[in-house]
Amino acid sequence: MSMTVHEHFRQYVTEMGLFPPDEEAMHRLVVDGLFEGHAPRGWSMWSEARRDIAIEQLTYKFTGIDVGDIDGLVGPATRNAREVYAHFMRFGEMPPPMPDRDLGQGSTAAKVSSPFPADNEKALAAFYGSAPIRVDQMVKVPCPWRLAVVLVRVYERYVQMASTELRLDFFSGDFIPRRMRGGTRWSAHARAIAWDFDDTRNQLRWGRDRAAFARPEYNDWWEIWEAQGFTSLGRTQNRDFMHVQATA
Ligand SMILES: [Zn+2]
Repeated sequence: MSMTVHEHFRQYVTEMGLFPPDEEAMHRLVVDGLFEGHAPRGWSMWSEARRDIAIEQLTYKFTGIDVGDIDGLVGPATRNAREVYAHFMRFGEMPPPMPDRDLGQGSTAAKVSSPFPADNEKALAAFYGSAPIRVDQMVKVPCPWRLAVVLVRVYERYVQMASTELRLDFFSGDFIPRRMRGGTRWSAHARAIAWDFDDTRNQLRWGRDRAAFARPEYNDWWEIWEAQGFTSLGRTQNRDFMHVQATA
């Protein structure tokens, strides 16, 4: 018979050395985490591997780290929480929040005029409406604006190459109603005006020295987006190279 979630959690924290093996604290975490509504319905049907991830996510959540939904799936939020948690364990404090703008490190983005609003709440609300979008208000539209142009040009440019190696087809997310990580503003994802690609090789805190999409073979990819007025946070702020958004 498989272990209960309680036993799983106990084993996990013991193996990882996350908390002192204090029965009372452990019990409180389990009760708080799994039986007080943090885990979504249906978790009892999840595979053990998925439960392990959920437990890891709960651990971050209880440490005070924003990890998004407790869903047992590893995405950008979980990976970011891992990095924050590692920093916390090493230095005993949370890493400083990422600056909103980091233009001091030099932008490599092409200078073009953009039809999109500036990346501040006032301009975004005027252009796109308030955030977050409510799911029941979402509508289906033809591929909008200049996004269709981007897709066609990317296809034309990269179809001859081994595009699977470039991992431009590794889609990592669009709409999610959340605040910016380490901030209070709504993320561009909360307005469904941002897209992430290949997040494992372009992690949130990685700069040009580590991110795959900072390499020269991706220059055309970014120039195609920029020619249509989209903004890469990697190219303009040297972080979050997975991400591109419809702002100036
Ligand atoms: Zn993003």
